[in-house]
Amino acid sequence: MEKIYNYIDGTVQSTGGSDWFDVYEPATGKVYAQAAESSPDDLDAAVEAARGAFDDWAATPAADRARVLNRLADLVEERTEDFAEAESIDTGKPLSLARNVDVPRVAANLRFYAGAAEHFASESHAMESGAINYTLRQPLGVVGCISPWNLPLYLLSWKIAPALAAGNTVIAKPSELTPMTAYLFSRLFSRAGLPPGVVNVLHGTGAGIGQQIVDHPAIAAISFTGGTRTGETIARSTAGRFKKLSLELGGKNPNIVFADCDVERALDGAVRAGFTNQGEICLCGSRLLVQSGIYDEFREGLVSRVRALQVGDPNDAATDQGALISEAHLEKVLGYLGLAREEGGEILCGGEQVRPDGRCADGWFVAPAVIEGLSAGCRTNQEEIFGPVVSLMPFDDEDEAVALANQSRFGLAASIWSRDIERCLRVAKHVEAGLVWVNTWMVRDLRTPMGGVKQSGMGREGGFESMRFFTEPKNVCVRYD
Ligand code: NAD
Repeated sequence: MEKIYNYIDGTVQSTGGSDWFDVYEPATGKVYAQAAESSPDDLDAAVEAARGAFDDWAATPAADRARVLNRLADLVEERTEDFAEAESIDTGKPLSLARNVDVPRVAANLRFYAGAAEHFASESHAMESGAINYTLRQPLGVVGCISPWNLPLYLLSWKIAPALAAGNTVIAKPSELTPMTAYLFSRLFSRAGLPPGVVNVLHGTGAGIGQQIVDHPAIAAISFTGGTRTGETIARSTAGRFKKLSLELGGKNPNIVFADCDVERALDGAVRAGFTNQGEICLCGSRLLVQSGIYDEFREGLVSRVRALQVGDPNDAATDQGALISEAHLEKVLGYLGLAREEGGEILCGGEQVRPDGRCADGWFVAPAVIEGLSAGCRTNQEEIFGPVVSLMPFDDEDEAVALANQSRFGLAASIWSRDIERCLRVAKHVEAGLVWVNTWMVRDLRTPMGGVKQSGMGREGGFESMRFFTEPKNVCVRYD
C-alpha cells in the first residue's frame, strides 16, 4: 500500500501520531494508498518551521524567488506523465484530461507567478502640498492554502505559487480525497531550491487539520477553494480574529444560448461546459437556458452529443467521462436525479449508474444526464450538484434570460452564446457573476481576476489580485517641503 506523508520543515515525514486514512481510486472503488492524518502537533511543527523560514524568504530577492518557482515548474513538467497518472487515479478523471489540462496548468501557475514576483509593483501618490505617498506591499507571514478535490494540484499550485512569489511561507492542505499529487509535488521542493519550512504540506480531513489551520493564531490568512458551506464555516471561525480570507466557492452557472448564435459552436460549448471533468468543475454550465425559437433543435443536438460521450476507464484514450470522486458523491448525484424526477423533470438521457466491464466494474460512474421541464426555482435548479447533470430551460427574450440567470444564490460564472455583440455586452453587464464568457467557455487568461459574487465567494484570485491578497499594503507618507 502506498503511503502519503506530510512535508514539514524540508523533510517528508510521517505524522506525529500513528493515524492514517484510506485513499480510494474512484475508477475501481478500491483503496490504493494511505495518507497521514495530521495532528495538532504536526501543525505546530509546520507553523514553527514556516515562521522560522519567513524572514529569509521574505528578504530573498524577487528574481531568486522566481528562479525557484521556475525550477519547480521544470521538475513538474519533466514528470508530466507521473503527475497525470497520479491525478487521474486520485480523482477518476480521464488520464488525457489530467495530462493535457491539469499538469500543464500546474507548471503554468508556477511560471506565471515567477513572472509576477518580478513584475508586481505598488503605487505612489504625489501631493501638491509637498508630500509623497508610497505604498509598501509586504508579505503577510505564514499563510494557509486549502484546496478541493476536483482540480487538486492545479488549484493548490494556484494558491501556493502567488503566496511564495509575494514572500510568504505556506501551510498547504490538499483535499483528503486527493492527496497524492500534493505529496509528489512536496517531494520536489528541496530539489527546486525551496529552503526548509517555506512550504509545508499537511494531509488530513477538513474538519480535523483543515479547521485547525483556519483556527491557528499564527496563520495570518487563509486562501480557500471549496464548497460554499465550508466557506461559511471558515468565515465564521475567523471573524473574531479578522483573519484575511479569500473564498472561492460553489457555482450553479447559467449558459445562455440565444437563437441567433452559431448553434454548432454553442452545442459543442454546452457539452464541454456541462460535462468536462464529469461536471465536477465549479465553472461548469449546469443551467442551460435556450431561447424558444431554437429550443427543440438545440435539445435534440445536445442529447445526441451527450449520448455519444464515452463513460469508462480513465486510462482508455476514448473515455470522455471518468468516475465521480467518491461513493458518497455518486449517491448525491443520483439523489439529485431522483429529486429532479420528483420535481416534475424529465431525464432526456443518462442519469443511471454505469458499471464498466473489467477493472472499473466497482467504480463510481454515472451516465451524463440532461433534464428538462423543471422550474427555475426548484431545488434541482438551485442547488449545486457538481456532477454530469445539465438542466435545460427555455426563455423568450433577453430580459427573461437575464432574470433566469440571476435567479440563483450563486454568482460564479456565465456563458453567453449569440452573434449579436451588443446583446452579448448588455447581458454580460447585467448577469450577476464574477466571470462571463462570450461564445466560449473556460478560456482562462491567468492575468485576469477569478472569483464569484453572492454565495460563490469573497475576494478575487488570479493575476495581481493574488499578489494583492498575499500582501498587506502599507502607505508611507513623506513630507519634503
Ligand atoms: P469542501 O469544501 O468539502 O473541501 C474543500 C477543502 O476544504 C478540502 O481540502 C477540505 O478538507 C477542506 N475543509 C473542509 N472543511 C473544512 C473546515 N471546516 N476548515 C478548513 N478546511 C476544511 O469542497 P470539495 O467537496 O472538496 O470541493 C467541491 C466544491 O469546491 C464545490 O462546491 C465547487 O464548486 C467548489 N470549487 C470552487 C472553485 C472556485 O474557484 N470557486 C474551484 C473548484 C471547486
